[in-house]
Amino acid sequence: MSDYQETLYEGYGQRFRVDKMLHEVHTEHQHLVIFENARMGRVMALDGVIQTTEADEFIYHEMLTHVPILAHGLARRVLIIGGGDGGILREVAKHRDVESITMVEIDSTVVELCKEFLPEHSKGAFEDPRLNLVIDDGLRFVATTDQKFDVIISDSTDPIGLGKVLFSENFYQACRRCLNEGGILVTQNGTPFMQLAEVQTTAKRMTGLFPDWHFYQAAVPTYIGGAMTFAWGACDADSRKLSLETLCQRFVGTGIVTRYYNPHLHIGSFALPQYVLQAISKPSNG
Ligand code: SAM
Repeated sequence: MSDYQETLYEGYGQRFRVDKMLHEVHTEHQHLVIFENARMGRVMALDGVIQTTEADEFIYHEMLTHVPILAHGLARRVLIIGGGDGGILREVAKHRDVESITMVEIDSTVVELCKEFLPEHSKGAFEDPRLNLVIDDGLRFVATTDQKFDVIISDSTDPIGLGKVLFSENFYQACRRCLNEGGILVTQNGTPFMQLAEVQTTAKRMTGLFPDWHFYQAAVPTYIGGAMTFAWGACDADSRKLSLETLCQRFVGTGIVTRYYNPHLHIGSFALPQYVLQAISKPSNG
């Protein structure tokens, strides 16, 4: 029985026993591995970094999707950047009021292999008639499209290699340009305990670009090193000041049953630890 050792951090990392190797390939863009682990279910890694596991994916996909869509309240056009495993797409598709979902994923092999080996992630969402799947670089798409969106969700790999451009000033500026009035951008932004510089860089790039920017958190076990942060960039500062009552009404109105997200967590997730607030030069009432 071999092991899979994550290589995201020098000298620190997580190891999975590979109970069954399901697929391994060098795609046009990255090294992809999908294997079975008795405790975490099926696991996918790209270029040595754990991307998603069947056991804990619900936490990340529910928080990166329902927080912005419920905060927006009238999201009809949603853009997903990356997200090749289909987990974000599955959660977005649960919102019946969403009329159009555009997904821009650079690696078609990730989509094909996740459909085959991680079917519970997308759960048929790739067949949703509202979906327009674009195989392209996310930065090129937002920099050149004339389409506008209400919510943009960047579900990318880490800012190394392919994913690096999705953390660039150009990317955030292009996303801002692509947002309708009241629009919201959220992005995967790493674990601040291990990647604080990533959070600081995003904070600097969002300052002056969005009327309201902040971060929110959720602990995802296989994104090691503590809570994962999600960057938040909103065209309307009120999007982050909704009452618990409003969020509860909106959430109940969707009829969506979740395993992690709820309105209390939604509000609480924007409370950040002092060391993160200090790093992004925000007061504790951020
Ligand atoms: N949830 C994971 C995380 O937090 O690390 C990310 C999952 S998803 C598999 C990440 C996706 O981003 C991959 O499918 C990868 O191909 C895609 N990706 C990376 N760089 C990209 C780019 N520049 N444009 C579009 N998609 C990109």
